[in-house]
Amino acid sequence: MNLFHDEYATERSRMVDEQIKARGILNPAVLSAMREVPRHLFVPPESIEEAYQDHPLPLEEPQATISQPYIVAYMTDALQLVGTERVLEIGTGSGYQAAVLSRLCREVYTIERYPSLCRLAEDRLKALGYNNVTVICGDGRLGLEQHAPFDAILVTAMADQVPEPLKRQLAIGGRLVMPVGNPNAQDLIRLKRTGEDKFQRETLISVVFVPLMPLPTPSESSPDSE
Ligand code: SAH
Repeated sequence: MNLFHDEYATERSRMVDEQIKARGILNPAVLSAMREVPRHLFVPPESIEEAYQDHPLPLEEPQATISQPYIVAYMTDALQLVGTERVLEIGTGSGYQAAVLSRLCREVYTIERYPSLCRLAEDRLKALGYNNVTVICGDGRLGLEQHAPFDAILVTAMADQVPEPLKRQLAIGGRLVMPVGNPNAQDLIRLKRTGEDKFQRETLISVVFVPLMPLPTPSESSPDSE
């Protein structure tokens, strides 16, 4: 897989320099993952020319967006990965964040509530060779008990508090990063599990994310989804 020399490589490199490095993210592993993963192949075809711009983009379902590149880099950095971790992501969306994470850890499990987005993400991750990512369709608020504990958990949708199952599925020493607040404004928080019932919470930056929601009803999904 040679992703460095596609026709968007220059734009991608500029994205990393101007949007990510310039704003203070200097972790070389994060920067190289952001330089490598072909973001334009994760956005809907009509948005491909905007893939490297400094903003989020809508995905193929109503309550789903691919985050701004800087936010993807920031959240990835905030997990403090060293490369050996098993990571759980809630909110697969396009699969882009999962692909970035997969460059920085051993294994990624990612859960998405829309069956249509699960299929799209799974197909593109497979086609691009991201073999250490497993996409699961379901309610991410419940986590993934059968594969717990996780060294890191990244929630890419907001809620007013961290779901209890996710806290319980975090390894001791593990980190969970998630937007917590109300639908208009959230703080990105990092929760470190320091003991069986001990958590340390830090507030990082202000963000705006789509909400964590129950599984879609048949009428909510787009016509071509299940
Ligand atoms: N990380 C994604 C973007 C996330 S947008 C990317 O890189 O593209 C938030 C995603 O969370 C949406 O796709 C939304 O459908 C999903 N989501 C919302 N509630 C969820 C839940 N309960 N379980 C799993 N996924 C959920």
